[in-house]
Amino acid sequence: MSEVYTDGVSPSIESEVPMSTISSSFEPTVRRIGEQLAGLSAGQTPTLFERRWWSQTALNLAMQDSAFKTQLFRFIDVLPSVKDDEQVLKLAREYLGDGNVQLFGAQWGLKALSATSLGARLSGKAIRSQVEQMARTFIAGATVEDATPRLADLWQQGRAWSVDLLGEATISDQEADRYRDRCLDTLTKLAREASLWPSVLLLERDHFGPIPRVQLSLKISALTPHLDPIDPEGSYRSVAARLRPILELAARLPASLIFDMEQADTKTLLLEIFTRLFAEPAFKAYPYAGLALQAYHRVTAQDIEGLLSWVRQRGVPITIRLVKGAYWDSDTIRYRQRGWPVPLFEQKIETDANYEALTRLLLSQASLVRPAFGTHNLRTLSYIEAVAESLRLPPEAWEYQMIFGMAEPFQHAVMQHGRRLRLYTPVGDLLPGMAYLVRRLLENTSNESFLRKEYVESQPLSRLLAPPVLEGLSQKQPLSSQRAGLQEFRNEPQRDFAQADRRVAIQQALVTVRSQLGRQWSSSFGGLRLTGPLIESRNPGCPDEVVARLSSASSEDVEQAVCRAVQAWESWRHTTTERRVDIIRAAASLMRTRRDELAAWEILECGKPWREADADLAEAIDFLEFYAVEWHRLAPPRRLGQEPGELNQRLYNPRGVTVVIAPWNFPLAIPTGMVSAALVTGNPVIFKPSERSPMMGYWLTEILREAGVPEGVLCCLPGGADIGRTLVHHPEIATIAFTGSKDVGLRIIQEAGTILPGQRTVKRVLAEMGGKNAIIVDETADLDDAITGVVASFTGYAGQKCSACSRAIVHASIYDSFLERLTEAVLSLRVGNPEEPGTQVGPVIDRRAQATMQEYIEIGKKEARLLVGGTVSGPGWYVGPTVFADVAPTHRIAQEEIFGPILAVMKASSFQDALTLANSTAYALTGGVYSRSPVNLELARQGFDVGNLYLNRPITGALVGRQPFGGHRLSGVGAKAGGEEYLTQFVVTRVVSEQTLRRGFAPPE
Ligand SMILES: Cc1cc2nc3c(=O)[nH]c(=O)nc-3n(C[C@H](O)[C@H](O)[C@H](O)COP(=O)(O)OP(=O)(O)OC[C@H]3O[C@@H](n4cnc5c(N)ncnc54)[C@H](O)[C@@H]3O)c2cc1C
Repeated sequence: MSEVYTDGVSPSIESEVPMSTISSSFEPTVRRIGEQLAGLSAGQTPTLFERRWWSQTALNLAMQDSAFKTQLFRFIDVLPSVKDDEQVLKLAREYLGDGNVQLFGAQWGLKALSATSLGARLSGKAIRSQVEQMARTFIAGATVEDATPRLADLWQQGRAWSVDLLGEATISDQEADRYRDRCLDTLTKLAREASLWPSVLLLERDHFGPIPRVQLSLKISALTPHLDPIDPEGSYRSVAARLRPILELAARLPASLIFDMEQADTKTLLLEIFTRLFAEPAFKAYPYAGLALQAYHRVTAQDIEGLLSWVRQRGVPITIRLVKGAYWDSDTIRYRQRGWPVPLFEQKIETDANYEALTRLLLSQASLVRPAFGTHNLRTLSYIEAVAESLRLPPEAWEYQMIFGMAEPFQHAVMQHGRRLRLYTPVGDLLPGMAYLVRRLLENTSNESFLRKEYVESQPLSRLLAPPVLEGLSQKQPLSSQRAGLQEFRNEPQRDFAQADRRVAIQQALVTVRSQLGRQWSSSFGGLRLTGPLIESRNPGCPDEVVARLSSASSEDVEQAVCRAVQAWESWRHTTTERRVDIIRAAASLMRTRRDELAAWEILECGKPWREADADLAEAIDFLEFYAVEWHRLAPPRRLGQEPGELNQRLYNPRGVTVVIAPWNFPLAIPTGMVSAALVTGNPVIFKPSERSPMMGYWLTEILREAGVPEGVLCCLPGGADIGRTLVHHPEIATIAFTGSKDVGLRIIQEAGTILPGQRTVKRVLAEMGGKNAIIVDETADLDDAITGVVASFTGYAGQKCSACSRAIVHASIYDSFLERLTEAVLSLRVGNPEEPGTQVGPVIDRRAQATMQEYIEIGKKEARLLVGGTVSGPGWYVGPTVFADVAPTHRIAQEEIFGPILAVMKASSFQDALTLANSTAYALTGGVYSRSPVNLELARQGFDVGNLYLNRPITGALVGRQPFGGHRLSGVGAKAGGEEYLTQFVVTRVVSEQTLRRGFAPPE
């Protein structure tokens, strides 16, 4: 793919928009035109802010009270998915409280706010119809047929349009096909209708010649469930296959097509798809292609420069629709959550200034592009006019675009001014329409909104027309470049695979690691050469391929290792806290340096897709940093009580030799957490990695030793269950940290309880065991989110996470529609080789795991209804993601932990019933709820008995420090990993109390 576009945030000269580039010479013209346009718009109010609306009352209140605004918009968002009028009223009360419902009562026709079902029906209906009416301000119709009369009216009034087909988020290939078909159908129908309309010259020509009456705005993410910047090639194939028939039709009619611009992480990908597709021989000459670009991106100037040189080569103009951008809040929050530098300007004034700079760039290139300006801001409109005037451009050389239902006074003004105006006009059902409505409401009521400033706050024209002055703005440090100190912990960001160099790095690392496959690695620690048989680790996606050979430990080696650990403890326990903390942090640095290479080993040894492998690395680094920070905080003696004459101190001392028995599913992160916690608190460690991931265990040990852990303090003993058992039985062992299956965990707990001859410590066992995790989906849930969340939670790393979802408990009223969309989403998953970036589901770990899955599939077929999947295939250890429906709580597939991509779906008659089902197993690890009912979410907080409860998000991927992880009941014993109590499990607490009063005096306090 071409790399013309900038996916990073390296700010360039243009992106900084220095004040010097903003020519003050435009200002008198801006003011003159601004006053003129204000005059033309005088006396009108945007529909949304009109007095006759109940919405005016509600929006006014929302603008004064941000908590109320959140509640109101959340209520509006959930409304269309609720079918029952009583439920509407119930939700109105949950969100707004009785007081506010009463407040709007008059407007909503809620005078009969009685508990009678007739009252509920009437008022529920009234609320719904009021909100639907508001939505219709912004949506031209549910179908093209509904919308056509309104589009014809617009045309007759002298306004062109660009139709946007609203839809649910596309989560399956079938849904993508349906969106393609809707596009084709819409184009055909609109072209037929529009051909009958009278000619409006202003709307039908620009400086290049005739322009089509029909314009369709395309949401590229709706054309594939696989739009993912990690896999540009696969994304292109999937999108282009559905776009080509649309383009062929558009070229024939003709009609123009504009790509909407979406979330920041897909920007570069969309640009690449655009340029690649319109360079294909069949579409190279198509003259009506266009795309939106967002001025809030720091690098849009470079993107436009890249496009301009591409247009020069192609020789055919394109439309560039310049907008400020609609995803500022959500993108900013998501990037911050991930710890990535935010690629958008952080202050509105910077976006405004950039928009003006980009206006100059676009208008100066009108010989190559059709500039289209999407804005409702009087200052911005006036600025565009001023620049065009200075360039002496004819008015047909650019157009204005506004959103249907928004800023009607300015629509009127620019038309009166003789300019071409096009309205972005959504068409679609109310359900997806409501999400659209909420976006528009947010935009209109935002503190930064121009429309709010003009029509709600009535700011004076001089202020509204003032230039966006950037002086004094400081450039904030991007978040991730600041490394946290010992006082605070910050999560290691996962890789942003939208950045090309990140993808290249993993690809290169895979090549490097591949060149070492099959090698024999010598496992020798502290002068101890292991004498057990060779272990061979194999690539689960290609079992003929030996990843590595390592010698394993024998039971004699265990004896030696324990003996050395006991000896090494003496000096390690007296090593200063600072030194131990430094070593652990040095290990984190080494992991950072070798991050891609280690991820590549994981991809090949454990079959993890790229993101999962990288996330494991990030988590491993997190554990090291977190426990270093935590021990630095906890280690100093703490004075207890403040009474004079006595000094009571709490001291932490290491417990002694610690055995770490680790699993293969997070082959670096989980052992890193257990091993580093034991080490930093002063214990020697004997570490047994899983025989299914010995290489990852080898690397962890190497890194810790390179970081400075002395010989003997850490010993790695690769091996099977016999080595684990020998270690557990050893009388010198003080602590056993185990993560793995329930059966093994319970056996360890039992065996560790037996006191052996010579044993002087009661062994402490920390055991993180399995789960039978459930996600509840209630009738108010956002199904787009719920299905994506359930699929991600049950198929992530082929379901081989202890946090994975294995039961979905769905409310009866949405059960069938949930199953239908779930099936399509599962069928659309990309199952395959994890070395390929687009792979979503890789193989399971080995033949044994595959055989177990096969057995459960057969059990499931007997117990329930197989909905999708149910096959295993080779040559890798693949298990197709499998869903069983109508599962009963007593079924084995509803009770037993199944470590693979198999989901049991159960039907619940109420939320309480769903909670009872969810709590009906012996496990209590993770759980999730998708609901938009505040009361149900609260019920879940109180009564969903799991260690980690996730509301309205997937249930895997806990982050160290932010989501300490671990369960109870038969899911585990011990404090949560990555939490503030974890380290105290590796120490004994001693208290020393000294009488400081001697001879009648005590030291000063
Ligand atoms: C025809 C049309 C098509 C559109 N297509 C797209 C599209 O494809 N993709 C898309 O993303 N949007 C699209 N939009 C939406 C558009 O981005 C918003 O309507 C527009 O940003 C509002 O800008 P304004 O000039 O009207 O209002 P103003 O009130 O002047 O500006 C509001 C904008 O400022 C920016 N902003 C707000 N706060 C901050 C901050 N703290 N720091 C930095 N910037 C901030 C945001 O972009 C916000 O939307 C389209 C709009 C139109 C009219």
